Amino acid sequence: MKCPHCGIAVHEPEERLLLKDANGSDATAAGYSDDKNYLMEYKAFSCPECGKFIVKLYLMTFAGRSNYLSEVVEEVIGYPNLPFENMLLRAANDYQTDYIEARNALSVSEKASAVLSRQAIRRIIRSKTSYDHDNLYKGLEKFAGEGYLPSDLSELLQFASRWSHKVDEAIDRQEEYVAMPPSPGEAQWLLSVFEALIEYYFIRPKLNETRIRRIESSIEYKKKCNDY
Ligand SMILES: [Zn+2]
Repeated sequence: MKCPHCGIAVHEPEERLLLKDANGSDATAAGYSDDKNYLMEYKAFSCPECGKFIVKLYLMTFAGRSNYLSEVVEEVIGYPNLPFENMLLRAANDYQTDYIEARNALSVSEKASAVLSRQAIRRIIRSKTSYDHDNLYKGLEKFAGEGYLPSDLSELLQFASRWSHKVDEAIDRQEEYVAMPPSPGEAQWLLSVFEALIEYYFIRPKLNETRIRRIESSIEYKKKCNDY
């Protein structure tokens, strides 16, 4: 995994440890689902690069005493507390590394961050929409104008018009605009667009899936109870 503090790849310990409650009993997740038992496990270690502490928490199906028979149901980074990265981990694993790199780079080099965000946004636009334009910013502007996106997302994408002429000029000069130094605010905007697209295409559908599964499993459970 990449260290959520510094973004450098770290080897995490293989073994998960059982989480105990204050009485020394195994910590369970009683209310998580009606008809199954769950245990909680964790890994706590520090990053060899930056020395900062990382805690990962796991929700496991309970399959007897053996660690090897239980399966991971959910996995979150308990520390540092980064709610967006945790959702990413579950929903858009492909973009997790890119996002963490672009976010961490922002405080060091806006240019490096902008390059990473531009590349990642292009990948999402290319795979999820028909707005893959030579000028990425023009594509985003057109996409924003389509009228079926949530208004907060299209409002954010419309900022592309501030900088799209600059991209056009670079294309006219046959320059590689992906590597262009960003104007003030542009790198921050690109990171926000990257984040908002991940949320729209990966996190929201996953959340909805979870909601539907919860409804279905509750219907199933009630049915089972009535059968007895
Ligand atoms: Zn680190």
